Amino acid sequence: MSNIQDKVVIITGASSGIGEATAKELASKGVKLVLAARREDRLKKLQEEIQKNGGQAIYKVTDVASHEQMEELAEYVLTEFGKIDVMVNNAGVMPLSPVYQKKINEWDSMIDINIKGVLYGIAAVLPSMRERKERHIINVSSIAGHLVFHASAVYSGTKFAVRAITEGLRKEEAPNNIRTTIISPGTISTELLESISDEELKSEIVEVSKIGIDPASIARAIAFAIEQPSEVAINEMIVRPTIQEL
Ligand code: NDP
Repeated sequence: MSNIQDKVVIITGASSGIGEATAKELASKGVKLVLAARREDRLKKLQEEIQKNGGQAIYKVTDVASHEQMEELAEYVLTEFGKIDVMVNNAGVMPLSPVYQKKINEWDSMIDINIKGVLYGIAAVLPSMRERKERHIINVSSIAGHLVFHASAVYSGTKFAVRAITEGLRKEEAPNNIRTTIISPGTISTELLESISDEELKSEIVEVSKIGIDPASIARAIAFAIEQPSEVAINEMIVRPTIQEL
């Protein structure tokens, strides 16, 4: 029997890129989806597409940097579906810049969205997951959570943090049968580079990102982690383009 069908899965950052591709992949496997992000028009369009193809999806406009909004998201899902099986903390931004440029607002947004957003996502779902003593939290880190490259000091800092937080959570919640998974994508073709404000750096990164692979590749990795038998935890995966050296 499939260990994915009828699961209730929340995906943050579902309005584009990896989140959107994951929603489509999981919908095709019979998951009940909850789509969360800030852009309502995108969420609504995706919901309609999933429903048109016979899948199930609801959405809630949510800013992951708001602890209150993340709590409201979890409450909404528990009211609608009565349970949360899987939380995919995927929302993230990557406004790369060298530290000397002192782009403090961009540091703050990376810390708020990439780190606090993940923590607020965990906090919102953990109480109901602990009651059932069997659930799954998937956090999207990055290859930049394993190594640091030019202009990635702060972004890498946030993605190293995601891995540390997830490993800590794994140890704490293993006795409660709660699975954790860290997904570290390499270069994936999405809108992520749009958040780089330094135009020269952006064009350099756009050039090296031409090797990017389809976000569906990460969606399949997430589906693989979810559909394992409940006693099997895929704790960490790196998924790169085959030709990526970094
Ligand atoms: P996209 O820019 O396509 O997607 C980012 C998503 O995050 C959007 O849906 C956006 O939605 C959402 N988001 C951003 N800020 C917030 C917020 N405050 N609250 C809620 N949602 C938010 O990029 P990707 O799909 O590539 O990124 C997804 C994840 O993958 C990120 O964590 C990223 O760091 C990671 N990653 C991506 C790689 C790549 O090469 N693309 C490589 C390694 C990791 P909205 O604006 O509507 O709120």
